[in-house]
Amino acid sequence: MLKIIHKSPGNFVFEDVPKPELKNGEALVEVKSVGICADEIYTYQGKHQDILPLPAVEGHEFGGIVKEIKGESKKIKIGDKVAVFPLIFCGSCYYCTHGLEIDCGSMNYFGTQMIEGGMQEKIAVPIDNCLKLSKDFDIRYASLVEPVSVANHTVGKVKDSNIIINGVGSIGMAMLEIAKAHNNRVIAVDIDEGNLKIAKRLKADLVLNFRDIKKDEKIKSFLKTDKVDVAALSFFNQETIDWVIDIVKKHGLIIAMALPESNLLKLNFWKFIEKAITMRGSIGYSLEEFEESVEMVENETISAGELVTRMFPLSEVKEACEYKIKNNALKVILTN
Ligand SMILES: [Zn+2]
Ligand SMILES: [Zn+2]
Repeated sequence: MLKIIHKSPGNFVFEDVPKPELKNGEALVEVKSVGICADEIYTYQGKHQDILPLPAVEGHEFGGIVKEIKGESKKIKIGDKVAVFPLIFCGSCYYCTHGLEIDCGSMNYFGTQMIEGGMQEKIAVPIDNCLKLSKDFDIRYASLVEPVSVANHTVGKVKDSNIIINGVGSIGMAMLEIAKAHNNRVIAVDIDEGNLKIAKRLKADLVLNFRDIKKDEKIKSFLKTDKVDVAALSFFNQETIDWVIDIVKKHGLIIAMALPESNLLKLNFWKFIEKAITMRGSIGYSLEEFEESVEMVENETISAGELVTRMFPLSEVKEACEYKIKNNALKVILTN
């Protein structure tokens, strides 16, 4: 079977290897859907190599069909369609034993140097990490559950508020749809007019180009107040931080979930303190949030067809990365 090793930035090596041997408690999943994430684009371009070292078999967003099971399984059976929960918690550290698995200090992550990911035809996965999808689910979209979980962890608890979502790429779009489902008024901000058109179709209440110098006025006249409760940043840089610290209300919340180009940005601490702003980082998701996301993809709270720009065969990973970069595409999925 095919296994794709990302050896060095942009250099994929295709290996023909035997299918993995299962350990007790594992399922063999035939991969049918792998999402290309910003992480894979970073490694492709040689960025953030300290956080995302190569070589690796990438692909943390994936799902497929269960082909074999070793050991007892109540959750899944052979032939089931599954989305794979790609985090493995140690189960014994302070966080894991206090219901805070997401902060596990020894967490492993599929698709990194720690554990091979979905960029191969078949993969061994712990049974507990396989989340069953319905029989008639279009399996090519199974990998979408992961980025939706990232969005769910970021904004899933924000309700009945005025929220800015800065950066409507695929995760930003998912944040938009989740925020709408929770009775928020959503202002989508981006510099890509194409993305803003999609945000409008996904029922953003107001869409604004970040470059629009009248955007603050437009927000105020739309909200009939200047109270932006939350700014969720799925893209940000210095300019974004300077803007949101101004635009959020007193006691407002800023949530940062993406990696900025540079890890070191400046913050106007006087505004931050004077307005008693809360700022929090957001990474990963719990199993519960992942399960909720399975449901949101299946019940079409999430518009899979809008979030996925294009699909490529697994073997065209390089073409898919090039396409995503050149077209600033939303989600690009590899299928098998
Ligand atoms: Zn991802
Ligand atoms: Zn742990």
